[in-house]
Amino acid sequence: MIRTVLGDISSDMIGPILLHEHLLFDIVPPGTPGDRQADIRAEDRWQVDYRANECAANAVQTDVAIAAAELAHYAADGGSLLVDQSIFGLARDPEGQARASRQSGVHVVAAAGTYVEAYVPEDLRTLSAEALADRFTAEVTDGMDGTDIRAGLIGEMGCSWPMTAFERRALEAAADAQTRTGASISVHPGRHDTACAQVLDILEANGADLCHVVLCHMDRTHPDGTGIRPLVERGAVVEWDFFGVESSHYWMTDEVELPTDLGRLRLIRDLAGQGFGDQIAISHDICTKTRLRHWGGHGYGHILRNVATLMQRLEFPPALVSALLRDTPLRLLNMKENPQ
Ligand SMILES: [Zn+2]
Repeated sequence: MIRTVLGDISSDMIGPILLHEHLLFDIVPPGTPGDRQADIRAEDRWQVDYRANECAANAVQTDVAIAAAELAHYAADGGSLLVDQSIFGLARDPEGQARASRQSGVHVVAAAGTYVEAYVPEDLRTLSAEALADRFTAEVTDGMDGTDIRAGLIGEMGCSWPMTAFERRALEAAADAQTRTGASISVHPGRHDTACAQVLDILEANGADLCHVVLCHMDRTHPDGTGIRPLVERGAVVEWDFFGVESSHYWMTDEVELPTDLGRLRLIRDLAGQGFGDQIAISHDICTKTRLRHWGGHGYGHILRNVATLMQRLEFPPALVSALLRDTPLRLLNMKENPQ
C-alpha cells in the first residue's frame, strides 16, 4: 500500500518511480536577498543554472499549473509516481500537490518532517523530540498543514554540518514516527564525509529500521564513492539524486568535484557488483526552475528518457535496472502492515 496525496493505492498500479524530487518548492534560505519573483530570461538561463544557488527566483516554483505540466511531461516519458520531498520549511503545499496530481494523472507522494534548522520557524525549533514525533506521525496518519492530505514518507529530514541540537531531536522524532507509522525515512545529510554515519547512529539508537532509511546526495557527500560501503553494510539505502546535473563541481562549494551521469552509473554498477544492488536509489532532486522543462531544463523524465540508455551502454543487468527505476523505491514507499 502506497500513501499518495490522493489516497492509498495498491503498489501493483505503479510503474516507474522518482523517489526524490521537488514539485512545488521554495528552497531559498530565509533572509536571502534578491527578487524571488524575477523572470528568468532565455539568454540568462545557462548562467543562472550553472550558479544554481545565486539566483533566488530560480529556487522557487509554486505555480500548480506549471507543476501539473511538468508531471504530464514525465508521464509522456513513462513516469508513474513522483515523491515530492518538499517537507515543512520548503513551502510544502498539499492542496497544490493534489491538484497537480489530479490534472496530470501522475501519482504524487508527499513528505512529513522538517528541513534543516535555518528553514524552520522559531516555534518549532523549541519543540521536544516527543512533540516533533507526534507532529510527524500525525502528518502521515491524519494530514499535513491543516488538510486531510497525508504524507507517505518522512523526510528529506534536514541536517546541517555540524548537526544542530534541533536537527538531532528531529531525527530522533523521525525514528519514533517511523516505528509508529511504518513510513520510510529519507535524510539530507550534512556536507561532510562522516555525516551519514552519524545520522545512522542517531536513527539506530532511537529504534529506526535502517533498511527503510535513505541517505540522500551521495553525489556531493561521497563524490568518488569512498565511504559508501560501510553505510550499505548497515542496511541503509544510498541515493544518487543529482542525475541531470552534468557540472564539473558542486555549485555550493568549488571544493567538491561532482560525478557526471555516466560517472554516477559507474559508481552504482560497482556497488551493485559488490552485492548491494537493492540498496541503491536514483533521482534528480529537481529544486530549481532551470532544471524544469518550462525553463528549458531536462525535467522529471531525464532518467527514463536518457539515463536508461546509458544503463544499457554500461550493460546493467535487467534486474538492476528494474530495481533502480521501480522495485527499490516501491519497497521503500510500501507502508508496513499494522502500524500502531
Ligand atoms: Zn531534495
